[in-house]
Amino acid sequence: MNELNEPIFVTSPHLPPLDEFHEYLKDIWDRRWLTNNGLYHQKLEAALADFLGVKYLSLFSNGTLALVTALQALRITGEVITTPFSFVATTHSLWWNNIKPVFVDIESITYNLDPKKIEAAITPKTTAILPVHVYGNPCDVNKIKEIADNYGLKVIYDACHTFGVLIKGVPVLNFGDLSVMSFHATKVYNTFEGGAIVCHDEATKKRIDNLKNFGFIDETTVVTPGINAKMNEFQAAVGLLQLKYIENVVTQRKKITLEYRKRLSDIKGVNFIDDMNDVAHCYSYFPVFIDSKKYGRSRDELYEKLKMNNIFGRRYFYPLISQFPSYRGLDSAQPGEMRVAEKASREVICLPLFPTLRGCEIDRIVNTIQKFGNN
Ligand SMILES: *Cc1c(COP(=O)(O)O)cnc(C)c1O
Repeated sequence: MNELNEPIFVTSPHLPPLDEFHEYLKDIWDRRWLTNNGLYHQKLEAALADFLGVKYLSLFSNGTLALVTALQALRITGEVITTPFSFVATTHSLWWNNIKPVFVDIESITYNLDPKKIEAAITPKTTAILPVHVYGNPCDVNKIKEIADNYGLKVIYDACHTFGVLIKGVPVLNFGDLSVMSFHATKVYNTFEGGAIVCHDEATKKRIDNLKNFGFIDETTVVTPGINAKMNEFQAAVGLLQLKYIENVVTQRKKITLEYRKRLSDIKGVNFIDDMNDVAHCYSYFPVFIDSKKYGRSRDELYEKLKMNNIFGRRYFYPLISQFPSYRGLDSAQPGEMRVAEKASREVICLPLFPTLRGCEIDRIVNTIQKFGNN
């Protein structure tokens, strides 16, 4: 009976078989080349670029430092247009670069930055747009490109929720000037901690590589005050092994997502996002949006009820980034400025989603949601 009430967390990271990792560890111990573009680092950069269908990829110790460095690489300054409906690191990367974030509302279908509202937020100080492919669903990349081209702005995508996502067969990572990835433990593909910047030409790749290694271009020349954001051999070895299993991981996540959708579709007031046309998804999250009038309970009531049943969803993203003390004083952060994002933030719960989530656990989650509402 005990098993019936075992905790179910929002995620449970995928790991490769330990014995496979032992072999890599042995090799790393033998070589004693632990970081600074070692063999595993080189192999992983090549393997990931190949798997993801991108030209150049530079590995990082985590996604946040990759974001901070991406802004440095393009010398972004002044104001940057971004979304309040994301993980705080998106906006923190601007803060660390002394850039003023300008928040713009999101669309109600994809929960991504609304391109129709971008132009109104552009000022003479605007230099870039920093959109996020939230939950791995691609932004309206063509509209965003059109606006960026018209106004001479750079586009850096926070692609931390996407892994292998395609739009009409084209990798979503190939849009924008740069895309930034995270390989944190909670993401679809993880290296414990880790990240990457994707770019489209060799000169930019070189600049990014220099920036993540203190600005060194050779033994004695430092061309820029770079940072230390290098991925080490341990992380890279994990990454190479994880890549062997990623297709299974995504298949499993898709299966669970389809099951959730089937089982939740009859419950009044529980809404979710469907697959987008022409998109190959990575199923990184399964958010539901609670319409409290129809469901009969608020999102927070359901969130607490799930917790009481040992089911730990997460409210991604609540509060909005614009509501945190560091940002809430900005003009663009005032209540009422971002109605769609405010509503999403009030309604969302991400349900547990990971490859080893069992059918009986999905039953427990769905039954709890069903019994608690108006149905
Ligand atoms: C995870 C995440 C980050 C930060 O990545 P880390 O690797 O944890 O530093 C940034 N943006 C978004 C949208 C994320 O989900």
